[in-house]
Amino acid sequence: MSARVIDGKAVAAALRSRLAAEVATLGFRPNLTVILLGDDPASSVYVRNKQRAAEKAGFAGDTERLPAETSEATLLARIAALNADKEVDGILVQLPLPKHIRTQAVIEAIDPAKDVDGFHPINVGRLMTGQPSLVPCTPKGVMTLLAEAGVPLAGARATVIGRSNIVGRPVAALLTMADATVTVTHSRTRDLEAECRRADIVVAAIGRAEMVRGDWIAPGAAVIDVGVNRRADGSLTGDVAFAEAVRHAGWITPVPGGVGPMTIAMLMNNCVEAVRK
Ligand code: NAP
Repeated sequence: MSARVIDGKAVAAALRSRLAAEVATLGFRPNLTVILLGDDPASSVYVRNKQRAAEKAGFAGDTERLPAETSEATLLARIAALNADKEVDGILVQLPLPKHIRTQAVIEAIDPAKDVDGFHPINVGRLMTGQPSLVPCTPKGVMTLLAEAGVPLAGARATVIGRSNIVGRPVAALLTMADATVTVTHSRTRDLEAECRRADIVVAAIGRAEMVRGDWIAPGAAVIDVGVNRRADGSLTGDVAFAEAVRHAGWITPVPGGVGPMTIAMLMNNCVEAVRK
C-alpha cells in the first residue's frame, strides 16, 4: 500500500487565493504588523515569507526590525502603541525572543483581538472552552489538511506526539473538539511506539528527525508530520521517516510541502478573522 500524499502547498495556495479574493472586497488593506528582534537567520526567513505572503494577499503592514538588545520595556511600549493604533488589525512578535525578554509577558501584552498567533491566554482559554477565538496557525493548518484530505475524525483514535503550547496542546484540543479520541504523548511516555500503532491519526510535533518509524504506523492511518529538522547536508526532514511510513499510512504529509505552507496561510486567515471581528 502507498499513502495518499497530502499536498500542503496546494491546499495553502487555494486558501491564500480565497483570502486574497475576500480581502479585495473589504475596501481597505488589512494591516498585519510583524516585530522581529535581532537577526536570527531562521526567524528572518520566516518573517520574510510571512511578509511576502501578506503582500500577495493584499495586506498592508510592515516588519519592524528591532535590535536584539532592545529592552523588554521598549518592546512592550511598542506593542501598546500597536494595540492602540486603529489602523493595525494583526500583531505578530516573532519567537523565539532574546533571553533577556520574558516571552510570556510579551504574549500577554498583545491585544487578544489582534493576536494573530493565537498565543494570548484569552485566546488559549477560549479555544479550550470551545468558544470562538484566534486559533494558533500550525494546529489550525493541521486540522485543515485533515479536513481537505477527507480523513474521518469523529470517533477516530488520534495520537499527538508533543505537548507544546504552540503545536501539541492546541492540536489535541482541536482534535477532541472534532470528536476524535485523543492521546497526548511526550518525552516521558512509556511506550510511544504502541501509542502510535493503535492510532488512526498520528500528529508528530517533536523536533527529532525521522523518529517515528514506518512500522509504528497502523495500516491506513493518517500521518501529519509537523516536525522541521535540518539534516547535516542542509536539507529538511520531518519527525516521521517518510519513505517507510508512506508504505503503511493511508494519508501522509511530506516535509517540506506539508504543514509548513499551511502555517503561513493560516496566519493570513487569522488576520482576516481579526478584521471580521
Ligand atoms: P517543542 O516545544 O520543543 O516540543 C516538543 C515536544 O516533543 C515536547 O512536548 C517534548 O516532550 C516532545 N518530545 C521530545 N522528545 C521526545 C521523545 N523522544 N519522545 C516523545 N516526545 C518527545 O517543539 P514545538 O515547538 O512543538 O515544535 C515541534 C516540531 O514542529 C519542531 O520540529 C518544530 O520546528 C516544528 N514546527 C513546525 C511548524 C511548521 O509550521 N511546520 C510550526 C511549529 C513547529 P516534553 O514536553 O516531555 O519535553
